[in-house]
Amino acid sequence: MARTYAEAVRNGTAAASKLLRRLDWQARLEAEPGAVDIFAIIADLDLPLMLRPLKGLLGAFLKVPTPGILVTTQRPLSIQRFTAAHELGHCLLDHEPSLDDEDQILRRAPRAQDAHTGFQETEADAFAVALMMPKWLILAHCARQGWRVSHLEQADNVYQLSVRIGASYEATVWTLERYGLLNAGCRAALLRTQPRALKVSLLEDFTPSSYHGDVWLLTEKDRGGRIDGSRNDLFVIKLPELGAAGYLWDFDTLVESGFSIVRDSRLSVDGEGIGGPNTRRVLAAPDEDAHGLLHLEQRRPWTSAAPLSTLTVPFDLTGPEESGLSRAERRQRLAAA
Ligand SMILES: [Zn+2]
Repeated sequence: MARTYAEAVRNGTAAASKLLRRLDWQARLEAEPGAVDIFAIIADLDLPLMLRPLKGLLGAFLKVPTPGILVTTQRPLSIQRFTAAHELGHCLLDHEPSLDDEDQILRRAPRAQDAHTGFQETEADAFAVALMMPKWLILAHCARQGWRVSHLEQADNVYQLSVRIGASYEATVWTLERYGLLNAGCRAALLRTQPRALKVSLLEDFTPSSYHGDVWLLTEKDRGGRIDGSRNDLFVIKLPELGAAGYLWDFDTLVESGFSIVRDSRLSVDGEGIGGPNTRRVLAAPDEDAHGLLHLEQRRPWTSAAPLSTLTVPFDLTGPEESGLSRAERRQRLAAA
């Protein structure tokens, strides 16, 4: 049990780092950056977890009859993940049972009453941050996207980072400050931007029925990474195309892998017009239950020669978690059957 706030942050962080190494998540995600699958970790640890609508609560850690975790179905996947990670923290750090509402899980300042429980809420939060958003994972995504520290002052980059690590935009901003990758002034400026405004700008002339889902900007830099998102997410895919030399990106394979194409356009690079290099921009929406391999090829349509370039990214867009067992546990049970 921690005696100070600082000690609780250290304990929670250390426990999460150890767990990620022990379960091989660090090696796996450094090779193929995506999000830490918190629900898969809980299933691997054989801890009982149930999802259900929870009135006024995001989640709970219960001890009787055996230790177990409850997570709400009434929030987006990013909040479900953070809540599950927080409750897992309570469980692994041998805390007292906890009923966690928004104030408990998503707060940002130390609380006086936390001292009475050995700072267990602070410890569980630090555990959740370090489990979901470890610094090495943030740096792995930045390296792949070619972002330096100064790029993290731009809201659109931080938003794209947040969808890749599976965290909310706000939690990502706070975590970047915690790691010393942002100063307090930049953090405050970033928090004044609403993710909705970033989505509107990415979608250009397209208006979705709601802005609850995330909008991913996929480029060639995402090659070798992975996508873990939700069924209401949208994808803006931007790729350089050598149209003048007869090369075209073939998006039929995108449709075959479970997406519908909403918009398809070409923008000329450097204002050279037709004949110059261009950027292909496609807006796509996943069909129901979309998961598998997104694979695109840029080739001359009339030849069978090898493609000029390809983009392959594994994806799972079956979130958020629904009532009952988590998707990870259902997959595990199916595999064992
Ligand atoms: Zn808690």
